[in-house]
Amino acid sequence: MALPPGSTIGIVGGGQLGRMTAIAAARLGYRCHIYTPEDDSPASQVADRTTVAAYDDAVALAVFADAVQVVTFEFENVPDESVRLLAQRVPVRPSWNVLRIAQDRLDEKRFFNDLGIATAPWREITGASGLAEAVADFGRPCILKTTRLGYDGKGQVKITADTDIDDAWRRMGASVGVLEGFVDFAMEISVIVARGLDGAWACFDPVENRHVRHILDTTIAPAPIPARLAEAAVAIAHRAAEALDLVGLLAVEMFVTREGGLLVNEMAPRPHNSGHWTIDACVTDQFEQFVRAVCGLPLGSPERHSDAEMRNLIGDDFEDWHQILLDPAAKLHLYGKTEARPGRKMGHVTRIRPKGPRAVI
Ligand code: AMP
Repeated sequence: MALPPGSTIGIVGGGQLGRMTAIAAARLGYRCHIYTPEDDSPASQVADRTTVAAYDDAVALAVFADAVQVVTFEFENVPDESVRLLAQRVPVRPSWNVLRIAQDRLDEKRFFNDLGIATAPWREITGASGLAEAVADFGRPCILKTTRLGYDGKGQVKITADTDIDDAWRRMGASVGVLEGFVDFAMEISVIVARGLDGAWACFDPVENRHVRHILDTTIAPAPIPARLAEAAVAIAHRAAEALDLVGLLAVEMFVTREGGLLVNEMAPRPHNSGHWTIDACVTDQFEQFVRAVCGLPLGSPERHSDAEMRNLIGDDFEDWHQILLDPAAKLHLYGKTEARPGRKMGHVTRIRPKGPRAVI
């Protein structure tokens, strides 16, 4: 059943994804209640209410659950027990099972491979000797990653010709890891699919993502890839969303190989940095689509009315805000963060231009 406007959406996590979700929710007449351990979070600055408490505070979680009509996440690394506790009291969308798979790189890779969807070659690693064997099999370079809590390249060690195996194992810093073969990709792309309570789905155009020091720097919409490849990428995201029985959004990051194939890197069951361009270039943006899905509303049109390039403003980049405002093609989005630490996402800028024929590399 659809939650009518006027209802309160509980959002776990207080970052910029929650902030932009709360703005979209307000446009449709909903209130948002943010649950975050952080004081003065980007999301709580624009929300109706905030609970400031730890992600494992059972009492605070129960009070929060009773104050909202649905719970969703802008941050998925929440303890299992907390999600279960919330789900006993209020609908949680996407479900605990979706979050659980997305939290763990091994479960995620098994999930895709079981669907017949290719990933980079990978192996579970539980110690330095297993790592040495796997590196010998995969060849160098390869990448050792933690299975949990990795983002923006954190918890990753690239193993090159002169990397010491014991040292790499220590640097990864966890008791289980996953070794991945290094993909010499032509391009990185991502696809964001929305799936509603009734199983209806809608997908944004695949985009190209360029990273600098493992952090997303630029998203180009649409990705300059042949239509056949774009359709294949959408089919992968849709198949994953169906298999998960997803209600909400799913962002799937993929590598385009030099042979023109697709390998899934990872997924996130929430709005995604590579979807920020949709605010300024699509009929319905990813945040509104997210709100529609979790509230059981009909999905909106994901149609792209303009081509777009989104750049993240990271750390000191944000000091250019005045200059950006002088550019008539630029739309500036700032997240209300006061301290511009290196690597911290402070905002983004989207430049749109009339929709042209798909440029293909
Ligand atoms: P991740 O945290 O898995 O999203 O990785 C962050 C970035 O590291 C990716 O967007 C890629 O640019 C790079 N990367 C991750 N895994 C691989 C891989 N197996 N081969 C080549 N590059 C990778």
